[in-house]
Amino acid sequence: MTYLVKCCLWPFLLLSSMIILAIGFARGTETLFFNLSYLWIITCLLAAEKIYCYRGDWRVPDGQTKANLAHTFLNKGLVQFFIVVFLALGWIAPREATLLSTWPMALQIAIGLTVSELGLYFAHRLAHEWQYLWRFHSVHHSVKRLWIINTGRFHFVDSIVSIAASLPFLLLSGISTDAIIWVSAITAYIGILTHCNVDLRFGPLSYIFNTPELHRWHHSIEPSIGNTNYGENLMLWDHIFKTFYLKKSEHVEVIGIEEHMPSSFIHQLKMPFQWNHYQTYGEKNTAPD
Ligand SMILES: [Zn+2]
Ligand SMILES: [Zn+2]
Repeated sequence: MTYLVKCCLWPFLLLSSMIILAIGFARGTETLFFNLSYLWIITCLLAAEKIYCYRGDWRVPDGQTKANLAHTFLNKGLVQFFIVVFLALGWIAPREATLLSTWPMALQIAIGLTVSELGLYFAHRLAHEWQYLWRFHSVHHSVKRLWIINTGRFHFVDSIVSIAASLPFLLLSGISTDAIIWVSAITAYIGILTHCNVDLRFGPLSYIFNTPELHRWHHSIEPSIGNTNYGENLMLWDHIFKTFYLKKSEHVEVIGIEEHMPSSFIHQLKMPFQWNHYQTYGEKNTAPD
């Protein structure tokens, strides 16, 4: 029974959340039902992290919960802010129907996921391979344990880069606005699932989707292992560009970064802009005597 749960929980949570969102679309209340579906997935994962915990040492508090939540809320606030500004500027307007927007919704979502993934893949890869962007992305990687509360821990500049790299692909793809909402929702569901500290089985799913099994390797402190599995939702571009990494029979050991990361939220926000100072002196204002 336990094995069955471990095999089915990931697809079950993804599909059940999508069903909740589909009900929202049918009722014309997709925003409300997206929030309900997100609450559903968080509640289930919090319970699963207790019952089917993957690593006991990742349940020990690391003093980063407040910082994780602060980054999450700042990012969510920024997204809302940009939506309001873009609406006011008329940049988000009812879109004219295209040939693609008349295609079946499932096909539009598959196209949307694939094209946005290309932007996300390169933005993520650049964040690992270009030292200046790594300063921002290292905030996400600096945690020593993975659990669902890490999901939204991104420096806001890192989040802006990801959105800027993927949104144009989505808007230019010609899929409908509803399909764009679906792609955004699925990205949110897969995102929270990839960070969960739950002992699950994925079988062939890990060759198609970004699963916790893959994302744990991505958080390895060892750059030759961590600089892989850049896909946000799909692993397609990792397969094409040969950055896919999975060892089914092994488990990641130490996760995190080699560099210094301040513990407070405010210092984490400032750190990428004053990288050398923080790497040399930490949170102190001046060099120690
Ligand atoms: Zn990364
Ligand atoms: Zn992550």
